[in-house]
Formats: sequence, C-alpha cells, structure tokens
Amino acid sequence: MTKARKATKLFLDKAEKPLSALDLGEQLEGLCDLATVYRSLHYLEKQGFAESFVLHCSAHGTERYYVSREAPHRHWFHCERCHRFVDLGACRIEPLLKSMESDAGVLIQHHALYATGLCEACSKELGSLVAEKDRCGEEG
Ligand SMILES: [Zn+2]
Ligand SMILES: [Zn+2]
Repeated sequence: MTKARKATKLFLDKAEKPLSALDLGEQLEGLCDLATVYRSLHYLEKQGFAESFVLHCSAHGTERYYVSREAPHRHWFHCERCHRFVDLGACRIEPLLKSMESDAGVLIQHHALYATGLCEACSKELGSLVAEKDRCGEEG
C-alpha cells in the first residue's frame, strides 16, 4: 500500500464520524493532494477497507462520506441544523433486508442508510425557542 493510502486508511480508522474527501484532504494536507485522497479512498473502498454513502445537506451540499470497515457496520444521523453526525449504532435493518431478499429473490450484498433531522441538542434548543416565542406572543 502506498504512503498516501496508508495515511488515508489510518485517519479513516480512527475517525469517530464519517469523513468526506475534503475532510480527509484537510487532515492530510502537506502529505498528499486532494486528487490523491480521492484515489486513495476509491482504492480503500474497492479493497473492502472502507464504505461510503452520499449525503445531501444544506451546508455542505451533496457529498460522499467514508467510514472505515474496521468497526462493525453502523448507521449515521446527520443534524440539519448544527451539521454534526450522530452515531445510530450497529445496523438493525439486517432482518428487514433478509425478508426483502427472500421476497424479491435477490442477494443483497450492500446497503446504505442514513437519517437526517434535528439532533437532541438542536431539538431542545428549538423547543425552547418556540416556547419563548409563544410566551412573547401571549404578552404582546
Ligand atoms: Zn444539531
Ligand atoms: Zn445497515
């Protein structure tokens, strides 16, 4: 494995959230350019060291995010307000996929799922903002 691929894998393995090529490019600055990061990620995914999903968010647009396959397969939540990733834990949709498999007579080898919305902190904050507004409305 080349130095760039090794470095990309290392950063991906120790990351606690999905990373885009741009995120990794920032972390690997000085070590390799962005084109190399893209190529390394493509290589790592092809070799089964990483998996990716495409996410659209209002702040970062449509971007592909990568996670290491060193850790067990899991799913992610993206907050549309503070743009943080929240770990949803180990995959719980395997049984659903199994039944889809037998219904459709197909062999599912890969799936991707992410969820978006408001994280706990943001929904609490918005909740209190709405309550605040309501109070102001009553007074006015
Ligand atoms: Zn949030
Ligand atoms: Zn899954």
